[in-house]
Amino acid sequence: MSPEALIRPELLRLAAYHVPDARGLVKLDAMENPYALPGELAQALGRRLAAVPLNRYPDPRAQQLQAVLRREFAIPDGLGLLLGNGSDELIQIIALALARPGAVLLSVEPSFVMYRLIAEYAGLRYVGVPLTADFELDTAALLAAMQAHRPAVIFLAYPNNPTGNAFDRAALEAVIEAAPGLVVVDEAYHAFTGGLSFLDAVPKRDNLLLMRTLSKLGLAGLRLGYLVGAPRWIEQFDKLRLPYNVNALSQCAAAFALEQMPVLSAQAHAIVAERERLALTLAALPGVRVYPSRANFLLLRLPQAAAVFEGLKRRGVLVKNLHGSHPLLTDCLRVTVGTPEENQVFLDALQAELDAIR
Ligand SMILES: *Cc1c(COP(=O)(O)O)cnc(C)c1O
Repeated sequence: MSPEALIRPELLRLAAYHVPDARGLVKLDAMENPYALPGELAQALGRRLAAVPLNRYPDPRAQQLQAVLRREFAIPDGLGLLLGNGSDELIQIIALALARPGAVLLSVEPSFVMYRLIAEYAGLRYVGVPLTADFELDTAALLAAMQAHRPAVIFLAYPNNPTGNAFDRAALEAVIEAAPGLVVVDEAYHAFTGGLSFLDAVPKRDNLLLMRTLSKLGLAGLRLGYLVGAPRWIEQFDKLRLPYNVNALSQCAAAFALEQMPVLSAQAHAIVAERERLALTLAALPGVRVYPSRANFLLLRLPQAAAVFEGLKRRGVLVKNLHGSHPLLTDCLRVTVGTPEENQVFLDALQAELDAIR
């Protein structure tokens, strides 16, 4: 008996999601917030967590956390709310729910790789429509692809990962208007956009769902994402959510952290300010092109990016090498905005690498 005889062929063909080993490196590859909770808050969180009854199952609906999320993110009472073990789990729930025979999940490329990966293992056909050369939505190509493939769902990250830009709002609205199925706007980087959001459009569009995560806001370790949409959609998706998908410690810690929103917001502001400083410094380096970003990372294009990536790693800095992942990303690297000190280490290492290849 071999795996080949029993495992679904599309799964056999897939490669597992690869997370590189970052031990000993300045970690600027995964859009984590570089700042920890301040010491006294971490202490207070410890006391809160100590009181969580670990012998009991969590609240299956995470009601207290839901209330805090609604308050802190101004989610209207009339909309449904679904919590996931990271937004990755929510993408999976949506895909599983829509995986009728022949169903299509559509996204743009380059974008978040989990859309394609999850489509493939949930048994949906994946269609990726290329962005324009400046990473905008190609509205004509999208409308044509919608006509041809009638996608059950379209995923659009706003701002987009790995390009960092927020798509033109009118273009995105045209896609929502023309979509024959659901549209999920993935606002994983909401905290860094200065207020750009489609939340206001959700009550007006019953095919529009909004997804966010606490991961990029400084709570990646908790694994908490949320989906907002019309209750009649959320009720269906909720059937696929495994009972207790958000564990008791995550529920408690997320509620606690969100009560300290000014601290998290101040960290996000510091990251945005540092993003702008880093972008200006990088743009002044000969041969380096920096793309505009509304997120907590920057997309760069530079000569011999793959060699520079390896050189940065040898110098102790881990970024993301995008060269080879998509034709539009030739010679591109993605760097997460770190602390000013981490960014300086990165800048010094990059300068040394650029000097070395010249
Ligand atoms: C990081 C990221 C996510 C994943 O978020 P988790 O909540 O950590 O699973 C989702 N969407 C996009 C576009 C991302 O970049």
